[in-house]
Amino acid sequence: MQLRYSFRLYPTGGQRQALARAFGCARVVFNDALRTREDARQAGLPSVKAAELSAAMAAAKKTPERSWLGEVSSVVLQQSLRDLEAAYRAFFDGLAGKRPRVGAPRFKSRKDRRQSIRFTANARWSITNGGKLSLPKVGDVAVRWSRRLPCTPSTVTVIKDAAGRFFCSFVVETADVPDPPDTSSQIGIDLGLEHFAITSDGRKIDSPRFLRRAEKKLRKAQRGLSRKQKGSANRDKARLQVARTHAKVADARREFHHRLSTELARDNQAVYVETLSVKGLARTRLAKSVHDAGWSAFTGMLEYKTRRYGRTFVRVDRTFASSQICSQCGHRDGPKSLQVRQWACEQCGADHDRDVNAARNILDQGRRITT
Ligand SMILES: [Zn+2]
Repeated sequence: MQLRYSFRLYPTGGQRQALARAFGCARVVFNDALRTREDARQAGLPSVKAAELSAAMAAAKKTPERSWLGEVSSVVLQQSLRDLEAAYRAFFDGLAGKRPRVGAPRFKSRKDRRQSIRFTANARWSITNGGKLSLPKVGDVAVRWSRRLPCTPSTVTVIKDAAGRFFCSFVVETADVPDPPDTSSQIGIDLGLEHFAITSDGRKIDSPRFLRRAEKKLRKAQRGLSRKQKGSANRDKARLQVARTHAKVADARREFHHRLSTELARDNQAVYVETLSVKGLARTRLAKSVHDAGWSAFTGMLEYKTRRYGRTFVRVDRTFASSQICSQCGHRDGPKSLQVRQWACEQCGADHDRDVNAARNILDQGRRITT
């Protein structure tokens, strides 16, 4: 299976300039090729082949207007052409109904929120003995290795995000996954209103305080931005501030989701979660907390991690989490308003916490489906 590994890069001033040049050249090559293809299409000519575009780029490099393309690794430029090919393929496959529809390839702009370039093995990039990322015509860039790469990848993508941060990203093919600990435990997980998640064993999991604090800061920065005048230098500054805070929130949230999903996938043989139609909830008061909590991103992680361990993962219809059903005896005693957080079953007398009861019902229903 393929896994993506990303690490933060800390280029020096000179390296930033070299990377900016590489992003710029990749963009120009992409746009030149896109224009060539679009011109041909509008003139009713057959589509221009990849080899022709590549030859056209090589020829352009020899002209004074485009000679500066020689200042960056030619692999980066070739890969940019490949990106255009991939964008066209996705577009045409979408039209043919072979995969979800996507828009036609668009011209890239230096104002795009995300810039990226790719170095393949041909570019002779490497990881130095000192742990730096050595990139042709850029130099040895400092990396913060937050986890260990399982093997040496052949390709590296260098990304600059909207917040102006640099990352390197590797796709690694992993065949073997370390065996998870033996366990027979099964768990049901319910989405909470006040808590991020509630488990059938009675745990209430909140999103961590650092995340909530970052989210608060983001809302403040967004309000600040909306007050700034359009086109002003202050607005540009405020926009960068929002982008930075936004990136921090996204990172913090992803980190929290990763930690929690790894733990749940590792410690349970079967994981049952409630399905959630975010669309259906959009008009209810749950909507905002659902969005903030990123439930679907989290369950997505949980799904691939449980699969990786060869464990069971099932989404259970939300109606089975109903607070109308006693998870102890199955008695159904009518709807309860959202204010009712605790109740005692009139049939068996069991005391219930509303959310934990829902998580237990999810667990029961999950078991019924899978056996
Ligand atoms: Zn009962």
